[in-house]
Amino acid sequence: MDVYEATSLSDKGYGVVIKDKQKFYVPNLLPGEKAEIRFFKSGYGKVERLIESSMKRIKPKCPRFSDCGGCMLQHIPYEKQLEMKTNLVRSKMHQSGFDESLCLPIIGMKEPFFYRNKVQMIISEKDRKIMSGLFEENTHKIVNIDKCVIQDDKANKIIKTCRDLMQLQKIKPYDEDKKTGLVRYIFVRTSNEAKQILVVIVTSEETFPGRNNFVKALREIHPEITSIVQNVNSRSTSVVLGDFERVLFGQGRIEDVLLGKKYTISPKTFYQVNHRQTEIMYKKALEFAKPKQEDIVLELYSGIGTIGILFAEYVKKVIGVELNKESVKNAIMNARINQAKNIKFYHEDAAEFLHDYVMQEYKADIVIVDPPREGLDRNVVDLIIKLKPEKICYLSCNPDSLMNDLAFFVKANYQIKRVQPVDMFPQTYHVESVSLLSLK
Ligand code: SAH
Repeated sequence: MDVYEATSLSDKGYGVVIKDKQKFYVPNLLPGEKAEIRFFKSGYGKVERLIESSMKRIKPKCPRFSDCGGCMLQHIPYEKQLEMKTNLVRSKMHQSGFDESLCLPIIGMKEPFFYRNKVQMIISEKDRKIMSGLFEENTHKIVNIDKCVIQDDKANKIIKTCRDLMQLQKIKPYDEDKKTGLVRYIFVRTSNEAKQILVVIVTSEETFPGRNNFVKALREIHPEITSIVQNVNSRSTSVVLGDFERVLFGQGRIEDVLLGKKYTISPKTFYQVNHRQTEIMYKKALEFAKPKQEDIVLELYSGIGTIGILFAEYVKKVIGVELNKESVKNAIMNARINQAKNIKFYHEDAAEFLHDYVMQEYKADIVIVDPPREGLDRNVVDLIIKLKPEKICYLSCNPDSLMNDLAFFVKANYQIKRVQPVDMFPQTYHVESVSLLSLK
């Protein structure tokens, strides 16, 4: 096998290798390192044997790091990961013609491991042994993982017990190719603050023979579990949770405490996975937006209401808009739990809601947006510009879509005041940030 050298590092932490004038992206390879590489048509490669390693490399904490597609940066010292992420945002700002010095250094974690409060593991079987794992990078192969070093270790232990119990009680994992078996995924959400744990067993069909025994045994081994739910997902998509849910024990949801406020979270709703960093990011949003008592705040993509409820204390009124029905239900309940009386949530598409809002000539002083990876719908951008809020606070999980959207606002007389990346996902390439824009 020929030996190749990585010439640079991509945004996602892949080593970039040029072979026959074509760029290949190779996980677990640093610039200057030489390796025997297996190349794939997809444009990716895999290190077969590392020939010359870089001084900058560290030993990954996870023994499955080189196979699993869950995290990409464990071989890079954490300080360096942080530097990479700050530089990434700055260079994207520069490319977009913005002043990159407005981007502050990323805020990292003291303990950049075991931070995820949500995990969903694929359940499968190999040589009659039940496995739980994640997909291999860029493939559909499952890597068995006993202890994932970025997720809460309590969840690791519970998933391991579920595997053992399935083996013992002869409950079959689902086989995607043969379409046989029952258990597809185990999903666990933990709250250290509220001391609650929710376990969701995702099955391919509603009939779950022996489920009472399974639940009983699981609770005996893990009395810390506060709720267990069966979710039925018979579709062949990569979406983990299906529509039908049956509560097997407890309330069928979990509570968490964030910046002193209590939140209720149903299985199928979005909730930030890194508790500590979320608190930091939300506090930054407050600090940036500097809400005043007479302000009206419009929050688009409001999820279960966490940001809006936090802002409600400081302003006249908050309006939250969210497309997921379950999330809106949670948000309304969360406003009640936290006695936020000046907040109202709407179950609607952000663009449709904004359209009516602008038509009716309603006003907002601050608009907060926290969209999915694709960023804002073009209509949403145009309508916010029409609404002319004094400030826009943009929480983003994708620097590319963020830059696109910021460019539209800048063209429409908004000024970027600050961009603060926050490391929500250590060991992975994901970059979260909060930005403030103000009307000139
Ligand atoms: N701000 C929340 C949620 C952010 S995640 C938090 O920090 O927890 C993005 C949210 O946008 C999800 O809850 C998703 O359901 C919602 N969403 C996606 N598309 C939407 C649309 N077109 N209109 C309104 N909400 C949408």
